[in-house]
Amino acid sequence: MEKTDILSLAKEELEEKIVAIGEKKFRAKQIYEWLHTYKVEEFSKMTNLSAQLREKLDDIFWINSLKIQKRLVSNIDNTVKYLYGLSDGEKVETVVMEYKHGNSICISTQVGCKMQCKFCASTKAGFVRNLLPSEMLQQIYTSERDSGRRINHVVLMGIGEPLDNYDNVVKFLRILSEKEDMSLRHVSVSTCGLVNRIYELADLKLGITLSVSLHAPTNKLRSSVMPVNDRYPIEELMKACRYYFDTTGRRISYEFALIDGVNDNRESADALIKLLRGQNCHVNLIPVNEIKEGIFRRSESVEKFKQMLIDGGLNATVRRTLGADISAACGQLRRDNN
Ligand code: SAH
Repeated sequence: MEKTDILSLAKEELEEKIVAIGEKKFRAKQIYEWLHTYKVEEFSKMTNLSAQLREKLDDIFWINSLKIQKRLVSNIDNTVKYLYGLSDGEKVETVVMEYKHGNSICISTQVGCKMQCKFCASTKAGFVRNLLPSEMLQQIYTSERDSGRRINHVVLMGIGEPLDNYDNVVKFLRILSEKEDMSLRHVSVSTCGLVNRIYELADLKLGITLSVSLHAPTNKLRSSVMPVNDRYPIEELMKACRYYFDTTGRRISYEFALIDGVNDNRESADALIKLLRGQNCHVNLIPVNEIKEGIFRRSESVEKFKQMLIDGGLNATVRRTLGADISAACGQLRRDNN
């Protein structure tokens, strides 16, 4: 019999399994605490359980864990970037960033990505597999343990398209919401715009922030850098975003990576203002990270572009660049170490 990945189980699911093997329900609570509060990775360390039960657990379940393959620490701002090895030898990246209000972690949701955005390093070598809920959780737990920092913000903006791994991501969010020290109000999910899933996610009313990678204000321009736009054009994406706000009351954060000579001119700013005017939303401007395989250069007009948006009535900020000395564009560490 194949063992069950115990760290991917929500509280209720674990309870059902524990009762099904003839144990009392409160045992599940104890085990859950060992896994998600004390974060032990071996059943033998669950010392308030009998040796017999610990052995039984070992026969039925396994505890997924990650290996630190690489750790890069920024000398500028303490940002830590991890390359984690998964149980099957695949690798993903995770970044821990320090802000005034606490520590934020950027986690991966897939090994590779199918979406083929032209400026993104994570998608260049294609898609390998979805991450399990346990592998998303362990990026947080392992990074907390190794860095000694308590993490209070989680963003799903690493390698992969979260909404293309919808079921596992939702399960991960549910497990996270069961933790006393974490509120889903402090969690952001970033998507390239899988419209059908945005509707589903809205209906769950999880309280998370949705970040939408827009990057271009017209279909022609967006399709030229993000092939997903052919499947879900801007009008449909905007409809879904409005639905998300109306249903959840959480305003959308639009990501806009500024690329020199592509989307950083007056015309782009005007089109973006026209597109978003009247929406309760926020625009997050990112100077594009230049990737090795890329043809795109970082825009020189980031501040000017921001001002144009503000003058046009939009809410816009420029994302702070962290870990400039260690980062390389997201996805590059994994590519360089395969
Ligand atoms: N697939 C999801 C989340 C992962 S990418 C998404 O598309 O939103 C996280 C963010 O980084 C997205 O906004 C993505 O478009 C952006 N991004 C990818 N490559 C980039 C690069 N080279 N420079 C700046 N931003 C980039």
